[in-house]
Amino acid sequence: MRVDDFCDYDNSFPDEFYACLPRECPDCGAPMEMSEALTQLHCSNPKCPSKVVQRMVAMAADLGVKDLGEARATKLVSEFGLDNPLLLFSYEPDKDGVPEGMSFDVANGIVSQLNAKRRMTLAEYVKLAHLPFIQTSSQALFGGYDTLDEAYAALEEGGLGYVCRKLDISADSDVSVRAARVYETLKMFKSDLYQCIDFVEIIKMHSAEMVHLTAVCSDEVGFPFKTKADFYATVNNLYQNLHVEFLGALTRNCDYLVWAGADGSPARLTNKVKKARAYNEKYEEHKASGTLKEGEHEIKIVSAKQFLYILEQLVK
Ligand SMILES: [Zn+2]
Repeated sequence: MRVDDFCDYDNSFPDEFYACLPRECPDCGAPMEMSEALTQLHCSNPKCPSKVVQRMVAMAADLGVKDLGEARATKLVSEFGLDNPLLLFSYEPDKDGVPEGMSFDVANGIVSQLNAKRRMTLAEYVKLAHLPFIQTSSQALFGGYDTLDEAYAALEEGGLGYVCRKLDISADSDVSVRAARVYETLKMFKSDLYQCIDFVEIIKMHSAEMVHLTAVCSDEVGFPFKTKADFYATVNNLYQNLHVEFLGALTRNCDYLVWAGADGSPARLTNKVKKARAYNEKYEEHKASGTLKEGEHEIKIVSAKQFLYILEQLVK
């Protein structure tokens, strides 16, 4: 609901309250909106510069790109009038210049970090865009495709029903509000996704040569990676024919658990490690007694360095 409308029609609060509510966004001047529960105010412009900045910062964090916090993202967005954070992938400081107050060193540093992380799956690309409501649905909606053309063809042909099916939402329940939001958002930001797709390299997941693995990381993965984000993006930029899907939680289907302590280095014994060890004990028991279930396998616990070595052997 527009703050304007709320102030005009509601009368359950003192006048001073309505008077202090912002009716226009301080960043772009678009009308402000209020959430249904009246707990949040937000700008109604989906491409409000402040949202673009927040999305760019989140993107950088996801990729483990350092030196791109809110202050620098604000400079880039306002200097170049960006309305799509993915445009960061097209940024060439030598050609485009640098915003006032940012050095070429910093700008080139950001770009060279990005360059090392341009390879990703289509679902990762869509997730990286940080579109509203799409974060958790990207894999379900885009994981089956290698091109935006194919994914959007399926989406547009299947409409809302397709979104509900893919996201496992029953179409007649209240939750389908979520499906509608997802659908509208993907339609609205379609051109943004297309605009930058050629600046990244989409991994062809659905080709026969692809080696596909699943892994989970414990809180520390080990030297030389400081953050998990850095590790994820680095791994998936190493080889053309390899993709590692990093899961948030450990399940039996996982191939590897990456943990700093796996090579004997001091590291916190996390719940994921305990869980993997418990799975592996069960696996050994089943193997010894000849009662292995279909697909049951050992979850190999390795350090980041060991994991990279294994990958190297796999793709040889
Ligand atoms: Zn705004």
